[in-house]
Amino acid sequence: MLVLGFESSCDETGVALIEVPSDRSQGAPRLLAQALFSQISMHQAYGGVVPELASRDHIRRVLPLTREVLAEAAVPLAQVDVIAYTQGPGLAGALLVGAGVAVAMAAALGKPTLGIHHLEGHLLSPFLSTDAPEFPFVALLVSGGHTQLMRVNDVGSYEMLGETIDDAAGEAFDKSAKLLGLPYPGGPHLARLALSGNAKAFDLPRPMLRSGKPDFSFAGLKTAVLTQVKRLGETPTEQQRADLAAATQAAIVEVLVRKSLLALKETGLKRLVVAGGVGANTMLREQLNAACGKRGIRVHYPELSLCTDNGAMIAMAAAMRLQRGMADLQNDGGFAVRPRWTLGSA
Ligand code: ATP
Ligand code: MG
Ligand code: FE
Repeated sequence: MLVLGFESSCDETGVALIEVPSDRSQGAPRLLAQALFSQISMHQAYGGVVPELASRDHIRRVLPLTREVLAEAAVPLAQVDVIAYTQGPGLAGALLVGAGVAVAMAAALGKPTLGIHHLEGHLLSPFLSTDAPEFPFVALLVSGGHTQLMRVNDVGSYEMLGETIDDAAGEAFDKSAKLLGLPYPGGPHLARLALSGNAKAFDLPRPMLRSGKPDFSFAGLKTAVLTQVKRLGETPTEQQRADLAAATQAAIVEVLVRKSLLALKETGLKRLVVAGGVGANTMLREQLNAACGKRGIRVHYPELSLCTDNGAMIAMAAAMRLQRGMADLQNDGGFAVRPRWTLGSA
């Protein structure tokens, strides 16, 4: 079976084609081709994503990317069996483009569609790696809009262990980076600046570290960074900026590592899966690997290029649902996007 997947929840247009053995005993789904267009440079001038611009650009990109994917896989569109798309959460207008294209294409081909939860896509993205995890595991989902720890029993069986009460980890990176004058999205820029910094030069808070629960709060950290930026004045030295970047990264990473260990201890599980854009952070990977290695815990990550939004993770989530007979296929040509949608809710 062939699944075509679309991602358009925010500022990346992603398309991917996956081959799915109908029976799990015949093997795991296989990525045949994928294509991605990031709108980051378009939104950079505004310091963040402009929803209307995002929707329009998804419209421009989605069909050329689809042609690219089908050509690379040498598969005619008519051979596609199921068309999957990100149904939510995300920007309503942006989601509507992917959903509209998927449903229209499926209607023309007489094939069903499958709406996918964007976070399920992130969560299952490590299954696209050669070293795929096994269920059950603890998932640390750290993206631009979410920071959650979950117990994942299998596809579709998610138990929330804890989440952020305010900003997401990616947001903490991005907002702090903005205060340091770095371009959007700031996470990777801040990580780069931090390389030449001394994290101990600033004493930043580790919010909720001692709450005893696997939940998070990052809004206070951003305020603390703002206070330091003001203190440094109009013309901080390059070293001061690097030091503050390093201290910010160290604070975020320490909280993420400690809370992940807490969730692993609570559940007694020996496997951790990290997903979402912040999962690309080198310091986070190094510290998780070190802390988990000592405790006999395996850590799985998506490939670096699949940490942020992409079509492959949406097609993969669809493929895994199809293999398990858990796909709620639609044939009626109707669709609704879900801009706000909690993973695990109906
Ligand atoms: P959501 O999935 O919650 O809807 P999103 O799709 O915008 O949000 P992702 O695409 O998963 O989020 O991740 C984007 C985030 O990852 C941004 O906040 C970005 O700064 C952050 N990020 C990406 N690379 C790094 C890195 N190397 N270090 C820290 N943060 C990073
Ligand atoms: Mg993005
Ligand atoms: Fe995302």
